[in-house]
Amino acid sequence: MSKKQVTSQIEIKQIEAGENDDWQAFRQVEIITLELTQQYKHSLGKYSRFFIELERGHFFGTRCPQCEKVYTPPRPLCPDCMCITEWHELAGTGTVETFSVMHFTSEINADVSHLATPVILAYVLLDGSSTLFPHVLKTKPENVQIGLRVQVTYSESPVQHPIHLMYFLPMEG
Ligand SMILES: [Zn+2]
Repeated sequence: MSKKQVTSQIEIKQIEAGENDDWQAFRQVEIITLELTQQYKHSLGKYSRFFIELERGHFFGTRCPQCEKVYTPPRPLCPDCMCITEWHELAGTGTVETFSVMHFTSEINADVSHLATPVILAYVLLDGSSTLFPHVLKTKPENVQIGLRVQVTYSESPVQHPIHLMYFLPMEG
């Protein structure tokens, strides 16, 4: 017995044409719908520790030993001094500098596809950081404004990509 590798669904479509259309036969299209699942292996390299610490409930950036700039998301090198940076823990609190209200989410990204729309993408200046960190802010659009204080919150459920081990929530109080 042979095992089917690919499930194909063939459908023949006739695109609507006028009565005297010489191209009518040409417009008949056979459509095969293929559903393929692929698995990728991708190294997170020098950024790995950032994600390992998220899993442990810690938020890390990197700090340049020369100019003392702090990068979130982390950078392995300071782009200004070309120095190798050092890991540097932050409290995970910050301020919304700007944001987008998204009415659609990616259907292929399981970490965001289940989120109720609209979804807020906030650019957060974390306390002690020199750069903006863009990520999902879980709240309603009417609750967001520039200057809103937010905090890193760690995901309780399994995620597909480790960046979704965290998200932002408005600070309480
Ligand atoms: Zn520097």
